[in-house]
Formats: sequence, C-alpha cells, structure tokens
Amino acid sequence: MPDKSTSSEPAAPAKQAQAAEAPPRKLYSIVKYGDPVLEKPTPVNKKFDAELAQLAEDMFATMYAAQGVGLAAPQIGKSLRLAVVDVSAGKNAEAKIVLVNPEIIHAEGEVREEEGCLSIPGFRGYVIRPQFVTVRAQDLKGETFEIRGENLLARAFCHEIDHLNGTLFLQHLSMLKRDLIKRKIKKLRKEGEW
Ligand SMILES: [Zn+2]
Repeated sequence: MPDKSTSSEPAAPAKQAQAAEAPPRKLYSIVKYGDPVLEKPTPVNKKFDAELAQLAEDMFATMYAAQGVGLAAPQIGKSLRLAVVDVSAGKNAEAKIVLVNPEIIHAEGEVREEEGCLSIPGFRGYVIRPQFVTVRAQDLKGETFEIRGENLLARAFCHEIDHLNGTLFLQHLSMLKRDLIKRKIKKLRKEGEW
C-alpha cells in the first residue's frame, strides 16, 4: 500500500535483533504494474492452514524490506484474498494486522491525501479515501473479526482491499493524471527500467 516516503528511520538495530530470534523469512519480489495478476479480483480464501500463516509472515517481512505499510497477496504474484497491514512499519508488534477475505462494512468521512503503491514505485497521487472504515475479515484461523481504522490505517485498509479486488490507486486518480503516469511507465518499460 501507501509506501512510506519518510524512510530515514533509525530502525536497523531493532530489525537485527528481530532477525536473530525469528525464523528466516522468505522475501518475495514485488510484482509491478503491468502484470495481469494485479488487476484480477482474488477468490475467497477457504483454507486456513500453516501454509497461509507462513505466507502472511513472509508478506510482513517482504513489506518491511520494501518499507511499505501494507501488502496484498497479488503484489507477490498470488491471487489470494490475503493482505497484511502495519502502519507502524514494524515498530510495534501489536500493529500487525492480517486480513483474510476482508470487506469494508462501514465508511465515514473523506480525506484527500497523497498515496503510493509498492507495485507502482516512484509514482504518487492524491486519492480521496474515507476517514474511518470498519473492516470485517477473518484471521489466520478463520475467525471473523471487525476492526476500525482511522486516517492512514483506514487508507491502508481501502488500498489493500482494492488490491484484492484487482483495483489500483491509479483508478482513483483523474484521467489526466492516470494517463500521465501510464505513459511514463510505458516509457520506462521500453527502456527496460520497469
Ligand atoms: Zn498498493
């Protein structure tokens, strides 16, 4: 999701300590705009097993390495209804949120803020999102829960759930801005830099 543009964080020592205790994690490469997996709605997930739990942890590790605050399974090339969010960017273990089969059941207010995406690196744009959202989702055991998010967390929920529906933040931009970004990406692709 929203990539964290203020990335000069003194978080290295904490990360090293964490790496020493935690089992090694698989870091996935992040799929970029243009890959059809990003624009395909994901099917409802019905399997809640150790493999799913491991994948979620690997997605957190991948997201932290990329300095993002959210990551959806299609962004690692998997058409799965699973996303992870941590707006503390790994600083607070309690901020880790796993969403399986999430849906927004309530939204309130509007905030216009700049947004980016790990799958569209280097490009940002202003997107209007609700100020508050309530999400209903399942956890890794299949238990249903509800969680409320405000501001950045609400934005992250919306952005990741969009990913699970095959929607990118580009779709929320003006046509002019969207076409400009698409043209620039096309050029980068021609130059072999995308
Ligand atoms: Zn994204």
